[in-house]
Amino acid sequence: MKINEITCKTGLSASRLPGLDYALNPYRGCEHNCVYCYAPSVLNEKRKWGSFVDVKRNLPNVLAKELKRKEKGRVGIGTVTDAYQPVERKYEITRRCLEVLLKHNFPVCIQTKSSLILRDVDILKKFSEKEAGFTITAIDDEARKYEPSSSSVEERLNALRILEENSIRTWVFIGPIIPYITEKDIDKLIENIAEAGVKKVIVDRLNLKPGVWKKIKTFLSEYYPELIPNYENVLFTKNDYFENLENKIRMICGEYSIKCEKAF
Ligand code: SF4
Repeated sequence: MKINEITCKTGLSASRLPGLDYALNPYRGCEHNCVYCYAPSVLNEKRKWGSFVDVKRNLPNVLAKELKRKEKGRVGIGTVTDAYQPVERKYEITRRCLEVLLKHNFPVCIQTKSSLILRDVDILKKFSEKEAGFTITAIDDEARKYEPSSSSVEERLNALRILEENSIRTWVFIGPIIPYITEKDIDKLIENIAEAGVKKVIVDRLNLKPGVWKKIKTFLSEYYPELIPNYENVLFTKNDYFENLENKIRMICGEYSIKCEKAF
């Protein structure tokens, strides 16, 4: 993994994601290296994804200057790459940005796959408006095969429980749905989400931005070669696979009084 310390000129950018006014990404590149990641295509990044991280060393200072003149708004942290990927343990850029945001009392919303977020509960709980979401796509640790550097599912569920106990509102992003894998023990996954105290689930389909299918097919060839024809059917023919699974997830969530939404 090549870690590059860089400087940035801007911190906050306008966000087009629903419910967010700004986006803040302390890192470019992501150690989690999820097989379905389409961030390289969003960033037009040509370097091999998962082989580098650019650390925005001066981001907290840039942010502090920006917040003096920006209108208050909700800040999504880690909207493109995970703000709590392993490199954050050393650099603490996300933590220092949170300190700055807290000083100006900007609402924050964080999405991650890492229990490292728990390190910052002391700061997060001081915000008047805060929430955190974890991506969980399967209850068994199948996910570790396609999200190799992220926390285990058990760690993520435990982190959700702790965040809730600290009055930090949480949600789970079941996305992208990994065909024939997410559906396994989906009842058990939602039962565990409910037990953690989570009240909202967001569901999303696999997004085949450029380069994603090639990576998924390579991954399937290694772990689930027998599923390749099924994937080709689900992803490249007209069918209702995702719709049926989404309906099932919504129904099970309903049994636990969990609100279930589709991603935008
Ligand atoms: S955590 Fe997000 S940004 Fe990082 S590799 Fe996975 S999908 Fe991509």
